[in-house]
Amino acid sequence: MVSVFSLRQSFFESASMMSQLSHKHLLLNYGICVCTDEHIMVQEYVRFGSLDTYLKRNRNTINITWKLEVAKQLAWALHHLEEKSLIHGNVCARNVLVTREEDRKTGTPPFIKLSDPGISITVQPREILLERIPWVPPECVKDSRTLSLAADKWSFGTTLWEIYCGGEQPLAAYDTAKKLLFYEDKHQLPAPKWTELASVINSCMDYEPLHRPSFRALIRDLNSLYTPDYELLVESDTVPSRHRAPGLAGAFESQEPTQFQARHLIFLQLLGKGNFGSVEKCRYDPLQDNTGEVVAVKKLQHSTAEHLRDFEREIEILRSLQHENIVRYKGVCYSAGRNNLRLVMEFLPFGSLRDYLSKNRERFDHSKLLLYASQICKGMDYLAEKRYVHRDLATRNILVESEFRVKIGDFGLTKVLPQDKEYYTVREPGESPIFWYAPESLTESKFSVASDVWSFGVVLYELFTYSEKRCSPPAVFMEQMGEDKQGQMIVYHLIDLLKRNYRLPAPEGCPAEIHSLMKRCWAPEPSDRPLFRDLARTVDDIQDSQSG
Ligand code: ADP
Ligand code: MG
Repeated sequence: MVSVFSLRQSFFESASMMSQLSHKHLLLNYGICVCTDEHIMVQEYVRFGSLDTYLKRNRNTINITWKLEVAKQLAWALHHLEEKSLIHGNVCARNVLVTREEDRKTGTPPFIKLSDPGISITVQPREILLERIPWVPPECVKDSRTLSLAADKWSFGTTLWEIYCGGEQPLAAYDTAKKLLFYEDKHQLPAPKWTELASVINSCMDYEPLHRPSFRALIRDLNSLYTPDYELLVESDTVPSRHRAPGLAGAFESQEPTQFQARHLIFLQLLGKGNFGSVEKCRYDPLQDNTGEVVAVKKLQHSTAEHLRDFEREIEILRSLQHENIVRYKGVCYSAGRNNLRLVMEFLPFGSLRDYLSKNRERFDHSKLLLYASQICKGMDYLAEKRYVHRDLATRNILVESEFRVKIGDFGLTKVLPQDKEYYTVREPGESPIFWYAPESLTESKFSVASDVWSFGVVLYELFTYSEKRCSPPAVFMEQMGEDKQGQMIVYHLIDLLKRNYRLPAPEGCPAEIHSLMKRCWAPEPSDRPLFRDLARTVDDIQDSQSG
């Protein structure tokens, strides 16, 4: 018996997996709509339908070059999932959507996207599992809980076969008993005439899961396939030769623009709005057919010359940073001159860590929080090594890529340390996140790696309070000094509190060793505070000791 609960759970998991991802060959998930007795997944609209139907419908015009191109695109999508250790679990031509048709006149290849897996086989009734032979791999027929990354490779092999055979259903004439026998006797699908492709399919459909190649290797194999003459002879139409050039194959990941054209940036959603600027989710769609990738775009709202100069500096800084825990710079976009400068970065589907924590509180145990803390330390250590001071480290400026990875964002206040000094003095106090500031930043406007470490202590506090508004740093400090304080008086009282050694309290349920780490970050003397490198190590050690 399969409970309604597990089906619903699986539906949410499927939706959640897709919304964690942003890749041009993965279907974009806008979100889910939960109604009383009906759940709807809101996805982007795809014009040309499922790949299996499309193949059948266009059997006479689709040639081998088309099929190979589509197979490679699917392999890229699955490579992306493999890199993130995410199992799709239901790869088949029916779950691949055609989002753009080929245009032979202009040499534009077709474009596909892998859709969500739907309800997982691990919760499906056995009849459905058996019906899915030969997409579902033999090991999962024995025990569906063995579903692993290797399953996607097997199913990719089956899907390759479908694509090659023009959308024909493999083993269509078999009933369940015959299908089971097929697996028991370790049979293979009828081999395509094209032997090189047949051997790629066979390598995917290896009965030993561990022998199946990685998607990176499969992409390499597909790229090295040369279309045999007899395949080209049956082509009903000729294809522009540049389309077939071997050098072009699989190159689409490396040909990313860094100059984005404003007219192709399509607004999708407002992600955040600050005092001086805003961040928008956009699709960069130069082919104007919704196949472009999704990016995050930061721009100034009302820009004075000074804001513009700071923004240009922020862009330069982000451009110079490459680290797995720092948001990735993609490029810039100018429209109508310098005043309309925009920063294009990778889009991180879960937004800011602050919102993510408070919305998903029940999903996190301490080990997740420590994982994020450790990643933040690693990103900050890299920053410190480059002599940058972030100056605005707070969970609102940390972005969430997936449940397993966070990245530092918002370098709007970042400064480079002068060669001869270990601190930077700012002249403009302006909009300051004062409750994250070290005492020397409040009193002397001095910023250093050590003052970033202080802010990291506050981030730790935010993590272990799950960014709950009620006990946010501003709420707690304001309560302590009396809510009636305003303007400069707040800074004055804050300095006074810190001088009297008042510190944010230990969050509820926070392990003592974490709280003591916070307190070390809040040492009055900057030189007494730990370094990010040591913090990362300590956090990792605590995590190991907790999980061990
Ligand atoms: P500001 O200078 O306005 O504080 P931020 O860079 O902190 O700008 O971005 C503001 C908000 O926009 C963030 O808190 C986050 O919710 C969202 N955001 C920013 N960059 C991205 C991104 N690359 N992907 C997804 N969301 C983002
Ligand atoms: Mg910010």
